[in-house]
Amino acid sequence: SVSSYISRSSASSRLSEFVDAKTELQDIYHDLSSYLSSFLTILEESVLLRDRQMLEHLCAFSSRVEAIAKVLSRDRMKVAFFGRTSNGKSAVINALLHEKILPSAMGHTTSCFCQVQANGSDETTEHVKVEQEEQHMELSALKELASAHSPRALKPSTLLQVNMAKNRCSILDYDVVLMDTPGVDVTAQLDDCLDSYCMDADVFILVLNAESTVSRVERQFFKDVASKLSRPNLFILNNRWDKASSLEPEMEQQVKDQHMERCVNLLVDELGVYANAQEAWERIYHVSALEALHIRNGHNQNPTAQTQERYQEFLRFENDFSNCLAESALKTKFGPHLQSAQKILNQLKSTLIGPFIEKVSRLIEENKERRANLNAEMDDWVILMQDDREELQIWFEQLTEMTQRVGQSVLNEQINT
Ligand code: GDP
Repeated sequence: SVSSYISRSSASSRLSEFVDAKTELQDIYHDLSSYLSSFLTILEESVLLRDRQMLEHLCAFSSRVEAIAKVLSRDRMKVAFFGRTSNGKSAVINALLHEKILPSAMGHTTSCFCQVQANGSDETTEHVKVEQEEQHMELSALKELASAHSPRALKPSTLLQVNMAKNRCSILDYDVVLMDTPGVDVTAQLDDCLDSYCMDADVFILVLNAESTVSRVERQFFKDVASKLSRPNLFILNNRWDKASSLEPEMEQQVKDQHMERCVNLLVDELGVYANAQEAWERIYHVSALEALHIRNGHNQNPTAQTQERYQEFLRFENDFSNCLAESALKTKFGPHLQSAQKILNQLKSTLIGPFIEKVSRLIEENKERRANLNAEMDDWVILMQDDREELQIWFEQLTEMTQRVGQSVLNEQINT
């Protein structure tokens, strides 16, 4: 039964939508780029079609396409975790990874920004690395580096990258990046870091301690974060629910209701991220990250009914935030890339292909015998131009062929006469 829980925890299909969309977009940009370069070759090689302005235009298109393709290859979905020290941010991340990767123990809490991600395609070995520094360190160095009380502890403003092997943690393999932050009291002082490391996240998770109330510092910090958010993708985890609910088992529901009410107030009235209680209600969870991790890493083979119930809630959380994450990232990251591709194609049509066709038409005009023949093909092009990518490919091939043919026959004849 435990294994059935674990298999149900595999990341949602929406995360794979992101990965699929990325592959698709990368294909589009790859194709665009190779069409542009073949067009470029043709323009450069044919003496009579050569046009300096056209070439410049084409080069500008190429570099735009290359630049977007580069951004695209780095696009990932990002989740940022906030909360007071020891509320269990690292434990939540470990549970999502199915493994204890980040140091998480009393007195071993995270002291800097810690970004957990899958290795880039050019990296093979797992390693820990300070952003801006070259040195690769073993994963085992993490405990000392990221722990507040270690002599090797890094400055709180440091960004530590934890690069995991591809395929080791499924959530990372779906192109998700998990950002752990130092405790709220520390993070609040690090406005610049917060902006540069966290504000581009697609989803924000506030990890609260279900055993205590939200402190004034936490409240103020969450307000500051919420005021900067352009998307209200904020989730609240009432963590350590195993402890909090065992204090007064008979009061469990009552305590939960109280939490819900307070958290709804926080999300709707104080932070203003949700319009109504219903929306906010669906973003609040009572979980035990530690139990979830123990179930997932096999340390708890016989979970009690209560533990199973809390684990179900953790799965619900994981599923909901994954969906939200993918949906948001698809829209905000890939939407603009798709629009750019569209724009590039339209501009290509109006500034390059239009004049190019005009030029070719003029040349055809000058070569009466072949005119009827070639004009028919021209019309086909224009229609195809408005269609989608596959059509574009055919169109480009036709364009290439046509250009070559025009270059070789009509123009050569002209040269010869
Ligand atoms: P962080 O500072 O927010 O990253 O907190 P940690 O993840 O390091 O957690 C602090 C301590 O609380 C560690 O000893 C964890 O094992 C423990 N802890 C975290 N989550 C839970 C939980 O849900 N239940 C219980 N009982 N302990 C937890």
